[in-house]
Amino acid sequence: MAYLGNRREVYWVSKMGLKESEKIRYSRQIMIKGWGEAAQLRLKAARVAVIGVGGLGSPASLYLAAAGVGYLRLIDCDAVDLSNLNRQVLHWSIDLGRPKVESAAMKLTQLNPEIEVDPVNEALTADNVAQLLKGIDVVVDGLDNLQSRFIVNEACVSLRIPYIYGAVYGMEGFLTTIVPQKGPCLRCIYPSASAPAEAFPVMGTSPGVVGSLEAAEALKLITGIGKPAIGRLVVYDGELMHFDEIAVKKDEGCPVCSRHKSIR
Ligand SMILES: [Zn+2]
Repeated sequence: MAYLGNRREVYWVSKMGLKESEKIRYSRQIMIKGWGEAAQLRLKAARVAVIGVGGLGSPASLYLAAAGVGYLRLIDCDAVDLSNLNRQVLHWSIDLGRPKVESAAMKLTQLNPEIEVDPVNEALTADNVAQLLKGIDVVVDGLDNLQSRFIVNEACVSLRIPYIYGAVYGMEGFLTTIVPQKGPCLRCIYPSASAPAEAFPVMGTSPGVVGSLEAAEALKLITGIGKPAIGRLVVYDGELMHFDEIAVKKDEGCPVCSRHKSIR
């Protein structure tokens, strides 16, 4: 089942096909049942935004780049700090003080020169979110607070862009896939947000797990393979090494997705 519309780019990229080097680079995933060159071409034509290239955004963007997502927009306004390095694996000691999007773009382009990486060194706000998400097919959450996520969630519902939510705390992680009109949005699940914490505990592997799962969900949405976590909040407990899931329903009184539905 495809979750993304057929755009003109998909048609043109399909016409061009894959280069020999791409057929080899992606050969092991092209072998997956249902993938083939057709799914690979959909990835090549896809435009994904990763908002925040820290603990979650590092593994997510690494796997998206490696898998051949044709265009990655990285959005972050922070510079690399020493306290980031236990978990933000795209950034190394030599990058201290550099803008994170620059550090990330350099690594991702070296990993896969076949794709386009667009670093945007800006803070995401309610005023610029629509502009930052222009032309984007899927949004991947690399944020660290619920207030910013609410801004992204509302924009994605309004613009009908699938949004993959991921979050971590300590040795735990959370993930759900939001496809507007096909299930609950983030506000259906979390009705309100407390003020963001200055710093909270994170074991580096927690965003490693959740960021990788976010990338997997994005690849599934784009290729149309598998069943995404729509209406399911996946909970990862790294302390007990246990995955659980909570069924989540659309809130008919949700101030975000019910309102946007009625406007339309
Ligand atoms: Zn909602």
